[in-house]
Amino acid sequence: MYSKYSKRQHHCLWCLTPLDTHDFSFLIRHDYLCEEHQKILITPIKSIVIKDIKIMYYHEYTPKIASLLFRYKEHKDTPLAGCLFLPNIKSLKRWIHQRPIVIVPSTLDKTQQRGFIPLKTALSACGLECIEALKKDGSQDQKKKSKHLRQTTQFRFNCESVIPGSNIVLIDDVCTTGHSLLTCAKLLESYGYHVECCVFAIHSSWTNEYLV
Ligand SMILES: [Zn+2]
Repeated sequence: MYSKYSKRQHHCLWCLTPLDTHDFSFLIRHDYLCEEHQKILITPIKSIVIKDIKIMYYHEYTPKIASLLFRYKEHKDTPLAGCLFLPNIKSLKRWIHQRPIVIVPSTLDKTQQRGFIPLKTALSACGLECIEALKKDGSQDQKKKSKHLRQTTQFRFNCESVIPGSNIVLIDDVCTTGHSLLTCAKLLESYGYHVECCVFAIHSSWTNEYLV
């Protein structure tokens, strides 16, 4: 029988540990994560500059963060969308400051294989909309091209995209080699936009080398 004292059992999004919910749990902002995972995910926004591009980031790409992203993107564990930007949504929104968001794209093949766009879903979990102004080519022909040619031609700007203003925030989930993020940033700059980037996680080789 329903009672006003009955409680729905909540679980941590990341590890599925049952959470201690109490009468005032609705007052706690991050009650969808256990304490351990709140400690990992709630963190200040940090910044580095690579090749004249400012990159904001939340995490280093540790094995734990890598496995979280793998589960979310490749195992289609979509509730994990709330683990990426949502725990730090206040600092993210403050930094974005109403600039339009463009996302680093995946190839059409990859998107079809996954059945969703992880980055778009993670942003949408925070109430943020993004513009898919860039395309990534990934056909068989593309694979046959030399590495150099592939790197310079892989991304293109969709000229039909309408981006209000000239200051853009470019967002990706992870920056490992930096190739995708920096290529997309430079591409947008070549169309006259001023670009600053934000990633959920960045490889520690960048943070060690470019520590500011
Ligand atoms: Zn947990």
